[in-house]
Amino acid sequence: MAVNKRVAIHTLGCKLNFAESSSILNKFRQRQYEIVSFDDDADIYVIHSCTVTATADKKTRQLINKVKNANPKAKIALIGCMVDNLSQNSSILEKTDWALGNKEKMFLPEIIENEAINDSIFNSRFIPAFSTYDRTRSFLKIQDGCDYFCEYCTIPYVRGRSRSAEIKDILNQLDFLVDKGIKEVIFTGINIGDYGVNQNFSFADLLYTISKQSYPLRFRISSIEPNLLSDEIIELVASSDAFMPHFHIPLQHGSDRILQSMKRRYTIDYFVKLIYKIKKSIPDAFIANDVIVGFPDETDEDFRNMFDLLKDLPIAYLHVFPYSDRPLANSFNFKNKIPANIKKQRSKILTKLSKEKQENFYNSFLNTTSKVLWEAKIEDDFIYGYTENYIRVATHYDANLINKISNVLLEKLDKNIIIAKILNDEK
Ligand code: SF4
Repeated sequence: MAVNKRVAIHTLGCKLNFAESSSILNKFRQRQYEIVSFDDDADIYVIHSCTVTATADKKTRQLINKVKNANPKAKIALIGCMVDNLSQNSSILEKTDWALGNKEKMFLPEIIENEAINDSIFNSRFIPAFSTYDRTRSFLKIQDGCDYFCEYCTIPYVRGRSRSAEIKDILNQLDFLVDKGIKEVIFTGINIGDYGVNQNFSFADLLYTISKQSYPLRFRISSIEPNLLSDEIIELVASSDAFMPHFHIPLQHGSDRILQSMKRRYTIDYFVKLIYKIKKSIPDAFIANDVIVGFPDETDEDFRNMFDLLKDLPIAYLHVFPYSDRPLANSFNFKNKIPANIKKQRSKILTKLSKEKQENFYNSFLNTTSKVLWEAKIEDDFIYGYTENYIRVATHYDANLINKISNVLLEKLDKNIIIAKILNDEK
């Protein structure tokens, strides 16, 4: 067993990668490794990669070169989606000491330590993970992979098909997180609405089972596909104090023609009705959407349709992604690619719209009261947290606030944060 070896990890990409990195670090800790920051001296640098965009690949290559230059004797482990996307003769592999794809990556500490790995564990369909980085909130992995094969996406190829955690394991992990003092859990996966597929159990069944356990936790649902956000789920969030009024729903485009070309599973009409249904049941809900600009063959008119749609919808935030060509994705072979300058222009327009929408949403809650969970993160003498409906809030730092839920008055908008006055602590 290694003693006093230093390991650092840098994670790119989705919340699932972050949850998995946290679990990998715990395994290193159990083997007496010292966990250090990626900017410090380490014996092993782990890069947990993402390959969703060409920019993510570029960042990974830069990180590998940075480590090689700064610390030539250190070993490098490249893990995650990019590895599954690399050709066998890729020059990156020469620069790494370990390259583990999604199937093996969770066993990196065992592999480094040459520990025997039971074949059945190695081939297990679902590998659990949760994060405990900030001691207040945890991203809990409940599902992995995807069966949808949207035309622009490589995830089904690099992470494999949809699979889910056992419900008893999720309940055990929630007990563990409560014991650790965690106050908020975000259910995370690649396509979480697909939870339980092939098991005769739905995502809504899971949420209703959890809601009956009365955990002392706040829950959030991470990104969920529009066609899988059922009435049952909306009703549960509307009626429960434990499930936060916060939805992240990937729309991806505002034109039916492009949605069809992307092979998405809903129409604009369905999506609009869904958003109004949520706002009718939960008027305070924070709704964020992912959108892609510059998908092949996106015309000015398609883009204008998307802009007009988003401008009028009661949504609070947009995650804007310029389309990125990925060799594994079907859209790589599509015609009529959109030039980079037009993608940039369109991204800028939607990012500006998103800022306006967020500001409007935040402004509409000024001078109202809300409940905030304070995080361990401190900056410039301020402590930060989120309201139930995902408004970013700050107040003057007080160490006693960490991991407490306070009733606050939302007083003043300062850039993209609301400064709050504490009324009283709840827990
Ligand atoms: S739903 Fe589509 S975009 Fe999302 S992971 Fe699956 S294939 Fe990719």
